[in-house]
Amino acid sequence: MSKDLKNIVIVGASAAGAGLARALENKLPSTHRIVLIDANEFAFWPISALRAAVVPGWEEKSFKSLQGFFPKGSRHVMLSKTRVVELGNGFVTVEEDGKRREIAFDISVLALGSTYNFPMRALGSTLAQAKQPFIEAQQALKNTQNTTWASSGLGARVSLACFWTSSDGKI
Ligand SMILES: Cc1cc2nc3c(=O)[nH]c(=O)nc-3n(C[C@H](O)[C@H](O)[C@H](O)COP(=O)(O)OP(=O)(O)OC[C@H]3O[C@@H](n4cnc5c(N)ncnc54)[C@H](O)[C@@H]3O)c2cc1C
Repeated sequence: MSKDLKNIVIVGASAAGAGLARALENKLPSTHRIVLIDANEFAFWPISALRAAVVPGWEEKSFKSLQGFFPKGSRHVMLSKTRVVELGNGFVTVEEDGKRREIAFDISVLALGSTYNFPMRALGSTLAQAKQPFIEAQQALKNTQNTTWASSGLGARVSLACFWTSSDGKI
């Protein structure tokens, strides 16, 4: 990465971080560059997660590869599969493939989200790893018979989705 530009480091490329990067990418002075960093190779859309856990095919709609996030020739940089392991005074330390390096910043934004269990958060850092648990959950539901599901809140959404997708109508 050229050292002539000042970095705006955004950690986390999901709804908040990726949304901010999109909003800024054509508005920054030419002296500044966005360095968008995410531990995963994909962006995950949690809002469709419950549906994706029960309806085959929805796992394809819930992920987007971060490759090509910025158009070719853009001065902005996307670092996917790169985890920030330290926030220092004016720099972050990142780890990629077991190797660490420092990236200096003028401004840093932490858009790290929150921690939830599957399916609200994806498991694994590659697309293939992240889709697999959804496919397994769909299969487990398909094999379920004569089940009464009591729930409230977000669980009610899962129950409804199970009801819609139940092949024998007995869930
Ligand atoms: C079922 C469900 C339904 C929902 N419905 C709604 C709704 O109707 N309306 C609404 O407004 N919201 C809804 N939400 C909430 C909404 O989806 C979340 O608030 C939002 O997606 C959070 O986005 P985020 O970018 O803040 O965090 P996250 O999506 O958690 O993203 C954080 C990102 O940071 C990365 N990251 C974390 N630590 C590091 C690190 N050290 N180094 C590099 N990268 C890192 C992660 O890999 C991740 O990509 C719903 C959520 C669920 C689960």
